[in-house]
Amino acid sequence: MWGIIATWRMAKEGLDVAVAGLQENGSAGDAVETAIKYVEDFPFYKSVGYGGLPNEEMEVELDAAYMDGTTFDVGAIAAIKDFANPISIARSLSLFKVNNMLVGVGAEKYAHRMGFERKNMLTDRAKIHYRNRVKETQEMEISPYSGHDTVGMVSLDCQGNIVAGTSTSGLFMKKAGRVGDSPIIGSGLYADSHVGAATATGLGEDLMKGVVSYEVVRLMKQGMHPQQACERVTFDLDRELIARRGKAGDISIVAINKDGEWGAAANIDTFSFSVATESQPVTVYTTKRVGDSMVHEKASQAWLDDYLTDRMKPLEEK
Ligand code: ASP
Repeated sequence: MWGIIATWRMAKEGLDVAVAGLQENGSAGDAVETAIKYVEDFPFYKSVGYGGLPNEEMEVELDAAYMDGTTFDVGAIAAIKDFANPISIARSLSLFKVNNMLVGVGAEKYAHRMGFERKNMLTDRAKIHYRNRVKETQEMEISPYSGHDTVGMVSLDCQGNIVAGTSTSGLFMKKAGRVGDSPIIGSGLYADSHVGAATATGLGEDLMKGVVSYEVVRLMKQGMHPQQACERVTFDLDRELIARRGKAGDISIVAINKDGEWGAAANIDTFSFSVATESQPVTVYTTKRVGDSMVHEKASQAWLDDYLTDRMKPLEEK
């Protein structure tokens, strides 16, 4: 039995590639790294890797993490600049006994020493997005932070190994040095091959308050189905945040268990996710909360195509 589930529609093409490996008995680690690299390399996704939106100072700072649910090896980098594939750097760090999470200049020195590909991650398109957003936020008084979409993936392979990975440029217009939940083990991702794995996207500052990925795995360990566990954690945190702080940031979570069953939940109406298992080809769903449960709907081919057309359309300076 194998399976892989990822946050957002943007993971679909990466999953197409990763699934070919899983079908051939490939490892969950390779599946997660391959699929996330694909998303990092795709220049039109403005929240991950190349083409990711820059921080307040017009610099692209990236966060990524990797967790092996069999060995509990973890690796993470945060606020790294100018490297093409943060997920591969994070995975390589997971193989050490110590120094598993590196930030900023330290992470860059490590990546340089290890020969990871250097790349200027700031594209002309991202610069236009940046300038447009600056204008919009000034003119319309909207929050400059309302731009984020981390790619997070969890995968189970035929050997029963479960792996989780994340990669993101974080919140748009974040302060230099700001780190969200994505590289934080337990919040952005968690994996335990005896149970399952989960990964999150949304407002990192709020997701960390619920340590959401660990919570989902903990509930699955108690026997909960991944769908129920994602719903419980998402809705509980949403309610707690509203009760204590007046409002809740975006929370979206996906999960898989050791039997290849999966689940997804969100407190927003715009969340989509991509999933494939031995019995299901790569499928993208949109999902909405109805009452106390989520209703997943298969995305149509037209929706999938429109998404890409929209992401890739020529961008004009406002
Ligand atoms: N959770 C990420 C962060 O706060 C953003 C995202 O998921 O899009 O950095």
